Formats: sequence, C-alpha cells, structure tokens
Amino acid sequence: MIVGIDLGTTHSLVGSMQSGFPVLVADENGERLTPSAVWFPEAGEPVVGRAALARRQEFPDRVATSVKRLMGSRSSEEKRSRIVIGQRTWTPEEVSSLILKKLKSDAERSLGSPIDRAVITVPAHFNDAQRSATKRAGELAGFSVERIVSEPTAAALAYGLDRLGENAKVVVYDLGGGTFDVSVLLLSSGVFEVLSTNGDTRLGGDDLDAALAAAWDLPQQVAEKIKCALSEAADVVFEGKTYTRAALDAICLPIIARTRKNCIRAMADANLESSGLSAVVLVGGATRMPLVRKFVAEVFGREPDTSQHPDEAVALGATIQAGILSGEVHNMTLLDVTPLSLGIETFGGLMNVIIPRNSTIPCKAGEMFTNAVGNQSGMRISVLQGEREMAKDNWKLGGFDVAFAPLPKGRARVGVQFELDANGILNVLARDTATGEDTVVKIESAVEVSDEAVEKMLGDSLEHAFEDMDERVFTEACLKADEMLPAVDAALLQLGSAIGEGERAALSVLINKVRSAQADKSSSRLKSALAALDEATQPLATLLIEKALGENS
Ligand code: AMP
Repeated sequence: MIVGIDLGTTHSLVGSMQSGFPVLVADENGERLTPSAVWFPEAGEPVVGRAALARRQEFPDRVATSVKRLMGSRSSEEKRSRIVIGQRTWTPEEVSSLILKKLKSDAERSLGSPIDRAVITVPAHFNDAQRSATKRAGELAGFSVERIVSEPTAAALAYGLDRLGENAKVVVYDLGGGTFDVSVLLLSSGVFEVLSTNGDTRLGGDDLDAALAAAWDLPQQVAEKIKCALSEAADVVFEGKTYTRAALDAICLPIIARTRKNCIRAMADANLESSGLSAVVLVGGATRMPLVRKFVAEVFGREPDTSQHPDEAVALGATIQAGILSGEVHNMTLLDVTPLSLGIETFGGLMNVIIPRNSTIPCKAGEMFTNAVGNQSGMRISVLQGEREMAKDNWKLGGFDVAFAPLPKGRARVGVQFELDANGILNVLARDTATGEDTVVKIESAVEVSDEAVEKMLGDSLEHAFEDMDERVFTEACLKADEMLPAVDAALLQLGSAIGEGERAALSVLINKVRSAQADKSSSRLKSALAALDEATQPLATLLIEKALGENS
C-alpha cells in the first residue's frame, strides 16, 4: 500500500485507496487536516499538529510553523533557513519529517498495518533542490518516496480532469492561507504536464484576515472566523454587531484582485486564451469564498468547477496517484462508456442504433439515410436513447429537421454522424450530401443517466424482447410491402395482355394475403405472404425487361 500526502504550508493531509476509492485518513480526534506545526518541548519528544499549534501562544520560540517556505533553500540562505529551538538547530526537512512521521503513524493506526511508501505533493514552482528536500524529509520519516507530484496535477486528478481527453487544457487556481499559485496544465497521453505556473508566495487567506481585523478592529482569529462564516451566510452577528458579506467583499476584493496579473501571466506563458480552456478548478481553503469564485469566473471567462473540497483535492489526487503506482487504480481506469445505446428514428418508427450501449467514450459513428417518400423535401432527425426496438419506447433526447432538394424516393442522401466527446456531450451532425450543407445539434445529456433509469431501460428491453422483435420484423415487412404492392400494380398495368387472366387472379390472391396479414398485424403471415408474392412476381420482372428490350430494338 502507498499513501498520498499533501504536505502543506499550514495543513497536511494523508490518504489511502480503500476498495478503489481515495479516502483521507483521520487522526485519533477524527481530524483530517493536521496543522503543519511542531512544538519542541524542553523535555520529551516533539509534538505535531493541533496540540503543537495550541502551544504557540505560550511558547512562541518552541513552535515551528510554515517550514515549507524554507524547504530546499540555496546554500547562501541555508543558515537563515535553520530552525533554532533552544540548544538545537533543525533543518526544514527534519521538521517536515516530523510532520510526515505523524501522518505515517495516523495512517498506520487507521489502516492497521505498517506503511512505508508514499507519494508527496509539492507546489508546481518548486525547483529541484526543493523537491529533493521534500523527498529527503519523506525518507527521514521512514518512507520510500515513490513519487513527488505537483500539487495542481494532483488536484486535476482529484477533479477527474483526466477524463477530459487528449490536449485538454485546465487551470488550477490555488489560494491557501499564505500562498497563491496558479497553474496551466495540458493533458497529454493521459498525463498532466505543467505548461506554466505563476503565483505569489506572500498572498493568501491570512492577508484577508489581517485586512478584516484592521477594518473591523477585531483580533485576527475572530476576523478569520467571521470570514469563513460569511462564505455560507450573507451576514453574521458577532457581539451584537452585524458583519455582511458585501462589506467583507469590499475589503477583500483589492487583495483578491492582486491574483489577476498572475493569472494573466500564466495564461500568456502557456500561450493560451480563455476560450482554449476545458476547465478551471479551485484548490485552497480561501477559494470557498463566493467572492473568489466570482473573481475566478470573471478572469477566466468560465465558471470554476467546485465539485471537490478545495482543501482536500490535492491530498485526494496524491492518493489517486499512489493508487495508480500501486496498481490499485489500474482496474478502474477512468474510461467512461455509454450507459445506453444512441440512435435515430427511421422509417416506420424504428430505432436505428448509431452508437451501441457500452461504447467507450469518446467515440464517433455515422450512417447514411435516404428519403422514404418521393419529393420529400426534408427529414426529421429524432435522436433517441435506449435499448428498445421501436423509437416510441426509447427516450427522445432531441430532434431537428434537415431540408434537402426534393428527389424521387430513395434518392436523397443524408449522412448522420454522432460524435460523443469525453464530457459526454453528443454532437449530432446531419449532412445533405447533395449540397454539403450541415446541420449540427449539441445534446448535453447523452451520458448522464441515473443508474435506476438505465436499469429500468435494460429491464424493459429484456421483458419486451420478443414483442419488440416481432414489432420490428412486422414494421420492416410493412415497409417492404409498401414498396412491393405499388410496384406489382405498375408492372401488371404495363404488361397488359402479356399476362393471362389466370395468372392475374393468382397474383391477386397473393396480394390480398399480404394486405390481410398487414391488417391483422401478423408478422409471420406477412413475411411468408411477401415471400410468396416475391417469388410469383419474378416472371413479371423478366417480362418487363424483355418488353423494354423489345421496345428498344
Ligand atoms: P489552506 O492553506 O488551503 O488550508 O487554506 C487556508 C485558508 O483558507 C485560510 O486563510 C482560511 O481562513 C481559509 N478558509 C478556510 N475555509 C474557509 C471558508 N469557508 N471561507 C473562507 N475562507 C476559508
């Protein structure tokens, strides 16, 4: 088993794959966020987490926080990056290793087995020295560090963005307590590549707290509580005073707006316009603020995806990466399939499947259709989903009309193409091959079907399998009858006296059999009547050809 670790500036988290799902581990108090703080008591072992943070007021010189900022400093700065506690100095990676050790023991207690392999995340802008220092911290904690992963890459995995498909470009906007990072990623061969990264290592939620504390004349911790509460409520009352979200937004906006230039630079460095983005995702506790979400939407010209907990996404992604490395995620490769067949309605109200059920997404398929009636000047394309033989029993997802120049029956040629993209969006294209004119319709709901609905559809199709099949056979036979009967009439008229009375009477019996089977809706009788008529009219076809040849000579 490999665990995934988000080693954060203010908080750290650890997770493991459990029955194919990434799950974050809680400590003995049920907390999943472990403050990245270490208290070094005068005597005894260092203490990590909430208990360490609680000692900060009392022993400001004995509690180390935000050591992540000191990781992998250049040698000229190494002295300054040392953490001096009493008589002893610690390197940042030693302090980090204590945090990692605590996460390791929490995970071992929760999972009930020793764990010695880990994936650890680092900011995308970390250089080699910072990455090596992080790896060393992991090793000091007793881990074999299987991989160092960029935080935005982990977040993208947690948001399931690997499903977006080849060449998708996504933005990860990460606003934490003390730092801001924005990254542009490219999904290529199933792997995220960081195209650009930008940010401000001195900008975060703490700055908002400081500004709010000053404006409202409150201690910073209280200001933070009010800030967080205003992410949910439009106003909160504290000690008889009302604080509104509008007032909060007015104070915070100038600080949040400082991230704009970083976003613009990151986009420019990636050579990208907003229109080229497939998704924007949020990371970091401060992105829970409605103001931040609105700001991000405005800067990137699209609504951010808020489907994951912003403070857990990186750890979940690290866990998924750990699962991929250990082979556990391999089997649940994130390929989607179509839950039900997709097709269009054709002659006689039949379902014509274009993309069969269980096709891997993305996919593309097409078919050529023609006009059922002469001089028809258009065709209705009804897009259907389901497993039933008749169009009316399936679900109609949408429809549109394709116009074409009137042509004799069977002569118009309309190509219909279904293209289902990685997001489950179905693009239906109909092309009149005579003019090359395309009609394209986008259907958003071709994949998102509830499990119950899929089950019901599959159940119905099994239950009605025989009658459905019978109805299809009957409909197809009717279509054939509609084609044959007028043709036989026309042939008899054309051949005139070349056909004797007895022959005519025999054919008329067969024609009536077809008509009565059609009226009685008996598909078996209709099929045999059609076969008999077909055989009996073979000589007519020969005669017609001879007649035509005779007339010509
Ligand atoms: P992180 O570094 O990702 O843990 O983010 C911590 C920052 O997120 C701190 O500044 C918190 O005050 C802030 N934060 C956490 N939850 C909320 C919330 N619900 N609304 C606004 N800010 C929050």
